[in-house]
Amino acid sequence: MFDPNRFISDRARAVDASGIRRVFDLAAKLKDPINFSIGQPDFDVPDVVKQAAIAAIEKGINRYTVTQGTRELNQRVTDLIATEFSNWQPASASNSEPRTLNSELSFSTLITSGVSGGLVLALMTCVGPGDEVLIPDPGFVMYKHLVRLVGATPVLVDTYPDFQLTAKRLEKHITPRTKLILFNSPANPTGVVATEQTCKELVELADKHNLLLLSDEIYDEFCYEKISRADGTKKCPSPGTYSDRILVLRGFSKTYGMTGWRLGYAVGPSAIIEQMTKLQQYTFVCAPSMVQVAGVIALETDMSQHVAAYEEKRNTLLAALRPAYDITTPGGAFYAFPQVPAHLNLTGQQFVERAIEKNLLIIPGNVFSNRDTHFRISYACNEATLERGINILLDLASRVL
Ligand code: PMP
Repeated sequence: MFDPNRFISDRARAVDASGIRRVFDLAAKLKDPINFSIGQPDFDVPDVVKQAAIAAIEKGINRYTVTQGTRELNQRVTDLIATEFSNWQPASASNSEPRTLNSELSFSTLITSGVSGGLVLALMTCVGPGDEVLIPDPGFVMYKHLVRLVGATPVLVDTYPDFQLTAKRLEKHITPRTKLILFNSPANPTGVVATEQTCKELVELADKHNLLLLSDEIYDEFCYEKISRADGTKKCPSPGTYSDRILVLRGFSKTYGMTGWRLGYAVGPSAIIEQMTKLQQYTFVCAPSMVQVAGVIALETDMSQHVAAYEEKRNTLLAALRPAYDITTPGGAFYAFPQVPAHLNLTGQQFVERAIEKNLLIIPGNVFSNRDTHFRISYACNEATLERGINILLDLASRVL
């Protein structure tokens, strides 16, 4: 008899998505929840960007592009990186004067299907069975699963209570098998932004132990603690400022509200990007063609008003919740990760169940972490929703059970 279960690999079985599924199941029962669980912006794609995609479709740009992505978009990304990180040498300009005397490396770019696509390719390219990958706890849900899917071992590095993935915290976990550090700032689920000092020390640590640093910078534009870069612009702190021996992944999903369009890019040492490109050829093939055209326009589009609006919402949330909750300041993204007040004597999961009873949807910390003491709020919602959610959270915290 045909039993479909016989065909499910151990690899697929090993991915446990029960934590997040439980939240979704509870959420499905709610009629009109106050939704503090959404991991995407509440604004839509800017009109100019939409028009660019529509025009591209109408012009017939509907076929495969070259695997590495269109020349226009690659060029824009190259220029952007070369301006932002003054010590990075673009491979495309390798005949010209080197930008730094001792730089042996050149960097290349690859247009990916979202940062998720970049993560899959980077991990497939760089790690495999026997390798250990250091990942932050708490951290983005995808990391540990992807590391396992490629046969490597995720090693969780506890970052409580300030959620900085510091060199000191990482170093304790380094073994001869460690190969890669997965770094994410501004971070999901905490919103915490790494300091310049942390970025610098991470680069030094990676150099000292000969590790690859993979920097997931998908929330880079949503940073409320920007610093001045070489080109005079204000940007989020990044290890890229201190080293070209790292892999940087960035995306369009969050910045331009285009999570469904699937666009991102990877930049890093050419030898690594070349291998990732080869794997893209035999997996994703290319990022969506019309989205790549629109991506060029997106990079020219000013999103600062949206970012300012989110900063405002973050401030409102913090001011309201601080008296009742212990919250590490989220310097970016659109998340906060408060601790469940101790007097309630509840796990994150239990607290979330109480919130859901009151029609508020939040995500328990154990979805992102080995601990179950916190919960994630996404404040990517309108002001009215924000206020309603805050009131419920204040009410929940004031209850003595
Ligand atoms: N990295 C982090 C930290 C994220 O939060 C997300 C989306 N939630 C991604 C990567 C993937 O984003 P995308 O594939 O849409 O670019």
